[in-house]
Amino acid sequence: MKREAAHYIQKESGVECGLCPHRCAIGEGKTGICGVRQNEGGRLYSLIYGEVTSMAMDPIEKKPLYHFFPGSEILSIGTKGCNFKCPYCQNWTISQDAKARTRFFSPEEVVETALREGSVGIAYTYSEPIIWFEYVMDCARLAREKNLKNVMVTNGYINPAPLEELLEYIDAMNIDLKNFREESYKKFQKAKLEPVLRSIETAHARCHVELTTLIVTGINDTLEEMESLIGWIAGLDKNIPWHVSRYFPNYRYEAPATDVNFMLEVCKRAQGKLNHVYCGNVSGSYGWSNTICPKCGSTVIRRSGYRTEVCGLKGTACAKCGNVLYMVSP
Ligand code: SF4
Repeated sequence: MKREAAHYIQKESGVECGLCPHRCAIGEGKTGICGVRQNEGGRLYSLIYGEVTSMAMDPIEKKPLYHFFPGSEILSIGTKGCNFKCPYCQNWTISQDAKARTRFFSPEEVVETALREGSVGIAYTYSEPIIWFEYVMDCARLAREKNLKNVMVTNGYINPAPLEELLEYIDAMNIDLKNFREESYKKFQKAKLEPVLRSIETAHARCHVELTTLIVTGINDTLEEMESLIGWIAGLDKNIPWHVSRYFPNYRYEAPATDVNFMLEVCKRAQGKLNHVYCGNVSGSYGWSNTICPKCGSTVIRRSGYRTEVCGLKGTACAKCGNVLYMVSP
């Protein structure tokens, strides 16, 4: 469904979209970089309002969020399009195809489904929810009224004003920090690193935040870059959970899957600086999927695949030593 977009200005040459840092100047009949916001008669329209490519009840750990209502299930919805152009995109069939098939669901229908399924809330995920801004805002407002939580799984590439609006309603975010070099963001995402870092800082001050980094062979798989990235997270808050994820060849990128030994080395180094480091997309996870109390070393959440057992928490505190963890739970 088409819906007039928020955050744009009219100019003589067309319109300028102010939703994300690309600030696309869009001529008549054209769309911006994300492919789903179009200038029609000097007005900017979202072409994907309510257009859903995927909807499923998922374990919240799959987002991944390990410290937000652990063990719960969340209604997850996604659309099509993206404001990044990662050549190794793991969801490229929906993120990079503006013609991907969709089905319309009104915000009311989505919220009703979440309530019927006993979901903890709604996760805006699968492709990039930032470019679905108008619909996410409407769903999230309604969901909040019904005491449902709102979760975004996002690349963080958004301008400060729309981010502030979203944060009125978003309870948790998993933000991708894809690498730690401006040159790499420019080359592979066709975007900039700096605005992502600012979004992480802003979101962290306002809602629960976890971060994910896909370690991609030949792009960010050096210890030097990973140490800089880890240092930046630690400087912000060493309690932020960091999910290190293994890349597999996909879309237009064919380098071999990430070396597991390298991932384990990164996790070991991160552990010295961050309190919660997880190793994902690796079979068995080599013991890096449990949540450990950083004070006494007790296992407080045990995970095997998507089976989650909260075994050592009292509210959000370690049942053994009473240390309060960076955690949101019922
Ligand atoms: S949201 Fe889309 S149209 Fe708007 S600035 Fe970003 S890429 Fe361009």
